[in-house]
Amino acid sequence: MKPNLIIHGAAGRMGRRLLALAVETGEFDLIAAVDRAEHPDIGTDAGLAAGIGEINVQLDSAFPATADIVIDFSLPEATEKVVDYCRDNNVALVTGTTGLDEGVIEKMGVVAERIAIVQASNMSVGMNVLFSLVGKVANMVGADYDIEIVEAHHRFKKDSPSGTALTLAENIAKETGRPWPGCLVHGREGKVVPRQAGTIGMHAIRGGDITGEHSVILSTLGETLKLSHSAHNRDNFVRGALRAAKWLVGRPAGLYSMADVLGL
Ligand code: NAD
Repeated sequence: MKPNLIIHGAAGRMGRRLLALAVETGEFDLIAAVDRAEHPDIGTDAGLAAGIGEINVQLDSAFPATADIVIDFSLPEATEKVVDYCRDNNVALVTGTTGLDEGVIEKMGVVAERIAIVQASNMSVGMNVLFSLVGKVANMVGADYDIEIVEAHHRFKKDSPSGTALTLAENIAKETGRPWPGCLVHGREGKVVPRQAGTIGMHAIRGGDITGEHSVILSTLGETLKLSHSAHNRDNFVRGALRAAKWLVGRPAGLYSMADVLGL
């Protein structure tokens, strides 16, 4: 039998693509599409809102009595309600919502003693592979390779550098024994700013509608090695979340990462 799926944040940009791809894969039985009560699309067919035609599931502000799994891409202030619902009804949870409060993260840790949760601020499969590789590669090439990270995102992005670029840098720092975050150098400006050995340079480009580009550059005298990831659109996060959901159904209680999902 297919797992019963609830999408939370279903009227959002991620939620609509999740809904479309969850239906397209045919691997889930979508039983509810939940969003906030004030959303103008509440009461309309969720498939129409997602651009895939009618699916006979209406956008609703209430959760159904039970399900196998919830996928949540909403807002930090909405995620706690989802965690409570999953705890009270013994439902597994995949959440990709970013900017969660410490309190919600702590609660998730406690609730994960009773239900299975995957929480990840980046659900892209390719990026998670890169997360697990960068530190190893830095150690393989050795300390004489200067490491610089360049990321590019659309003009609307608020934070800089991206959380993903910081995770890449942190993973390198941890695996190579660099002080974190003391090894970071953000941009470079000035008449005399030579590169300091052991630092990780961090550079952010903002422009147009770039979805997300990250490059880790490892350069020494004579050669440069580049590890790059390009997100073409949001679907890479959505496909990662669906893969996590499929993996999670039937797992024992626990707080899992995308590295667990992918076996990295
Ligand atoms: P969005 O603003 O388009 O969608 C958020 C949706 O949540 C909206 O439909 C909104 O109405 C709904 N919502 C808000 N409050 C709610 C409530 N109280 N109850 C129910 N629904 C509520 O945002 P988005 O671009 O779809 O992103 C959603 C989240 O996913 C953000 O936190 C974003 O940073 C994160 N995100 C994570 C990844 C990842 O890989 N983990 C990738 C992309 C986006």
